[in-house]
Amino acid sequence: MTELPLVVPRPADPMPIEPAAKPEPRPYRSWVEVSRGQIAANFQAIRDVVGPEVEIMPVVKADAYRHGAIEVSRTLEEQGARWLAVSNTEEGVTLRDAGIRSRILVMADFLPFAREALLEHGLTPVIHSLEGLATLNQLALARGQRCRCHLKIDSGMGRLGVRADAEAIGEAIRAAKNLEVEGLMSHFASAGNYQSSQTEDQIRTFDSVVSALNTAGIHPNLIHLSSTIPVAYGRRQCWRGMVRPGHAIYGYVSPARGNAPGRILKVKPALAWRASVLSVKEVPAGALIGYGGMFRAPRPMRIAVLAAGYADGIPHRLSNRGSVIVDGKLCPIVGAVSMDLTTIDVSQSPETQVGDPVTLLGSEGQVSIDAQQIAKLAGTISYSVLCGIHARVKRIYV
Ligand SMILES: *Cc1c(COP(=O)(O)O)cnc(C)c1O
Repeated sequence: MTELPLVVPRPADPMPIEPAAKPEPRPYRSWVEVSRGQIAANFQAIRDVVGPEVEIMPVVKADAYRHGAIEVSRTLEEQGARWLAVSNTEEGVTLRDAGIRSRILVMADFLPFAREALLEHGLTPVIHSLEGLATLNQLALARGQRCRCHLKIDSGMGRLGVRADAEAIGEAIRAAKNLEVEGLMSHFASAGNYQSSQTEDQIRTFDSVVSALNTAGIHPNLIHLSSTIPVAYGRRQCWRGMVRPGHAIYGYVSPARGNAPGRILKVKPALAWRASVLSVKEVPAGALIGYGGMFRAPRPMRIAVLAAGYADGIPHRLSNRGSVIVDGKLCPIVGAVSMDLTTIDVSQSPETQVGDPVTLLGSEGQVSIDAQQIAKLAGTISYSVLCGIHARVKRIYV
């Protein structure tokens, strides 16, 4: 999932830019506008690519990459999603409390203190170890019920997942009489890197475990390996019966490296992030702006102070290097990004006044800034830019 370029990145697909509407002022310091329609369109674009036979389990962890898990999950349910994936039990309980009825896979939990709630709320755990299978089996027994779970195989990522041999896995599954292991899954470490054989190696390792289990009479009916990238670049041999896209649901596909096939999935960002102008001032040539006097005005300048800073998720690394969109024009961030404030040069936009909305991420007119561009400037990845948008930033659904 890294986007840090090891080699010259492939040129991005040319994106037709439709002029975007001017944002409306809102009574918030900073807010995101999330398009339910675009989330739905992205889901359907994935549906078109994988076809009707492959189940799509959208990943809505981390509050749907900060798009708001409840609203996003409702939208996806309306679009026909029968499964959703979250990271932890608390995220799953939040969705259940909001009335989400789909199956919910909890991909990265099964901590002792979370297990009761996991079962209580009808969530489906991913089990990562043979001991985990035995523990879940005991819990199921104690509750007098059969529990369904998915078993994760560590096929070479070296993070979560069982690394035991197929025989030991088969024995553990057979011994867990109160469990239905309905899914087998794995996760790729280098899905977007076509210079590396790691993905092929992982597929081979995974398939050898699955076929040994099949031979032993164990046939989970859901096999899933693919996040966004194997879907978007058409690695069909690992779609199997189910795919787990996250990034693409929100409109992003990271660039691939090496000799990658063309992208077959077209999605668009569903989120725009804005902030209000809190103050505007003229400063003389030579004035220093913000902490550390990091910027010195080379000429008289008009500076706008935005009501958002790194506590809202604007990367501090954008100090003196990022841009925002004001009135359809790119305006540079000048000086250090502070905790709750960011200073920008609006000399080119003399009409800017207090209360005006500016776009931190999104489109205005012909200009757009997306999470991948911000990530590049900030030396991080687009996932981290999206997940960095703080909970205090208001969410509006459009
Ligand atoms: C986050 C995650 C995904 C989704 O990945 P994207 O790159 O956002 O599509 C899929 N599977 C697992 C196990 C994950 O942790």
